[in-house]
Amino acid sequence: RAKSGRVARPVWFDAGMERALLIQDEIEQGIRFGLDHGQFVPYFEPQVDLETGKLIGFEVLARWDHPLSGIVEPDRFIPVAEEIGLIDILSEQVIRQALAQSADWDPSIKISVNISPLQLADSWLAQRIVRMLTETGFPAERLVVEITESSLFADIDLARTIVTSLKNQGIRLALDDFGTGFSSLSHLRSLPFDLIKVDRAFVTNIQSNKESTAIVRAVTTLAGALSVPVLVEGIENEATHAVVLELGCQIGQGWYFGKPMPAERALQLVNQTQRERASAHQMSPRPS
Ligand code: C2E
Ligand code: MG
Ligand code: MG
Ligand code: MG
Repeated sequence: RAKSGRVARPVWFDAGMERALLIQDEIEQGIRFGLDHGQFVPYFEPQVDLETGKLIGFEVLARWDHPLSGIVEPDRFIPVAEEIGLIDILSEQVIRQALAQSADWDPSIKISVNISPLQLADSWLAQRIVRMLTETGFPAERLVVEITESSLFADIDLARTIVTSLKNQGIRLALDDFGTGFSSLSHLRSLPFDLIKVDRAFVTNIQSNKESTAIVRAVTTLAGALSVPVLVEGIENEATHAVVLELGCQIGQGWYFGKPMPAERALQLVNQTQRERASAHQMSPRPS
């Protein structure tokens, strides 16, 4: 077979791989086009106080509003954007829009944004974030920057420098995807995190899985010792809500409280919360 005289493709390069490369190539071109045409938009996922159910903020999650495919989730484009060196631009577009849209929401509402591991290798990151705050008029005290555990691994000294400048501006820091990375404990001790986010992987099956329960309990104990509150993501039902509250977690997010939504819907939720709070206040008996 090999003697046909034609230049053969290497045997490992099969049709499936060729198709995969073509798709990858299309996504790449699509991302570049999408960035030039404002197709990347922020969605907002509610974060609530588990004890009172009160809305306290939103996590900003990138969505690709694609003309043919509709709303595309980040798993499909964030890894490609990272690979082709466009994650900085993409994240900055999404964060800038999110800050501009939510700058004048109720001052109690915090906004959390995600920073990819690669961005933490950019020594100008803190300056870029501060410039976005200035340009959008968003108050630093309402911003939370989520850093994934694995991203701290690359260059811990640079990470510490960036984190320190963000903190000096009054920006809060959350350790994202806690439990999925390495050397968690040393990071917790050496960096000034204001919040620990337990990854959805430990939450989804918490009612039936003893290990997950044990891990979340260990995290809340540790966080308690460090006086850092714990947020759990991926709460999809009341039963899970009850379990994580019982385990000592203070904040939660997940489909039970609300799926990621566009800014207009998020603002409606903020206003509804304000109205409910105002009427609860009116109806409650006056303190004597
Ligand atoms: P993450 O920061 O850990 O975000 C949480 C993910 O869990 C989000 O997925 C969210 O939609 C999903 N989620 C939240 N609650 C539930 C739930 O109750 N059930 C289920 N099944 N899923 C839930 P999403 O939006 O697909 O984001 C995936 C990851 O992409 C994020 O993980 C974050 O690391 C990254 N990402 C998203 N937006 C951006 C961005 O603007 N910049 C950067 N650098 N990364 C981003
Ligand atoms: Mg996050
Ligand atoms: Mg997370
Ligand atoms: Mg996660």
